[in-house]
Amino acid sequence: MLRALRIVLAVAIFLGLNLFFLGFVECTGGLAQIQFVPACLAFNLSLGGVALALIGMTLLMGRIYCSVICPLGVFQDIVLWVRRRIVRKDFAYRPGRPVVRAVFAALFAVLLLCGGASLAGLIEPYSIYGRFATHLFEPLAAMCANAVADLAARWGHPCILKTEIFVRGWAAFGVAGVSLLAITVLAAWRGRLFCNTVCPVGAMLGLLTRAAKSQARIQLDATKCVKCGLCAKVCKAECIDAANGIVDQSRCVRCFDCLGTCRKEALSWK
Ligand code: SF4
Ligand code: SF4
Ligand code: SF4
Repeated sequence: MLRALRIVLAVAIFLGLNLFFLGFVECTGGLAQIQFVPACLAFNLSLGGVALALIGMTLLMGRIYCSVICPLGVFQDIVLWVRRRIVRKDFAYRPGRPVVRAVFAALFAVLLLCGGASLAGLIEPYSIYGRFATHLFEPLAAMCANAVADLAARWGHPCILKTEIFVRGWAAFGVAGVSLLAITVLAAWRGRLFCNTVCPVGAMLGLLTRAAKSQARIQLDATKCVKCGLCAKVCKAECIDAANGIVDQSRCVRCFDCLGTCRKEALSWK
């Protein structure tokens, strides 16, 4: 139930954000305002409340933002969904990399403070996905629309207008293409590896999650667990240490994929 709800919400927000990037701003503009870094950077009267709400949500429920609101997170889940239908490959627990996360988070903060926002944007999730959508998906959507217009004209219905295919500079196109390839390969290979090593938002949300002692969380009941490892095999954040009965909450993205796998009812959301 929780997993189904998470997927429905994530798909709705993801589709809405893609429509936003394709120019349907009036009906979907609000979704762009609930993104973590833009809300924190534009800390004014309205967006300040959004940033505080996102921080409060993380303190109460952990990194649910990463499975529902972040378009780059949902994009990685889609890549993984496709990969699972092509190749079966289980995940396994791996220790976190707090030093790597700290280095990337510090680099991001220094770049922002020193005026290097465009460089910082190379590892900021909303900027990365924005580049995918505007530099890659938008021209692709225009090509598809033109193909439909050509077909309609061929069948004697020249009622669909063709649209201009607009590429915003080849350098930006190249950066977007390389990022898309890198994120796709990482997601297909190791699930949320980018999220738990490179992403500065993930580092920040992980810190908030670790700081909150009484939040809702995935709990592993060591008295019921038989250490079969089934749950760890589906955990794309590689954060369930079944052998020691520990879930690394700072890396768990609250996808709820693991809840249905345990036959001993040792895993729960509490
Ligand atoms: S860790 Fe970063 S990229 Fe991953 S889902 Fe969270 S905000 Fe998005
Ligand atoms: S699936 Fe259940 S029993 Fe098996 S390791 Fe995970 S929590 Fe333990
Ligand atoms: S522990 Fe469960 S909810 Fe958390 S990331 Fe892993 S599979 Fe998802």
